[in-house]
Amino acid sequence: MHELSLARRILRQVEELRNEYVDQHISAVELEVGLMSGVDPDILAVSLQDEQVDRDKPVEFVINVVPVLAHCSKCQKDFQVEHYAFSCVLCGSTEIEVTGGDCVRIMSITVEDLEV
Ligand SMILES: [Zn+2]
Repeated sequence: MHELSLARRILRQVEELRNEYVDQHISAVELEVGLMSGVDPDILAVSLQDEQVDRDKPVEFVINVVPVLAHCSKCQKDFQVEHYAFSCVLCGSTEIEVTGGDCVRIMSITVEDLEV
């Protein structure tokens, strides 16, 4: 996929967050990358680093790869999808809904007070 443009978008989001934390420095950002998001976490990590080479205080990114989660609309079970087997682990139904692991998002940020 487009890890580089995604990295730029994430950095823009972090930039916007900076405006909310004017007296503080955003030191780390935790990201969630879903297994089914189509994003390669390693390439994303490299892209995020490359995009920040000119920065004197680069943000450290922590990338958590999360599994694909699904919900069975037949027996209401929530389960983890393994090996892209999109059927319910309990009843075998294919009427399932993916509830997680299909996107990339910012989970948390770490801010530090700026040294005066
Ligand atoms: Zn089921």
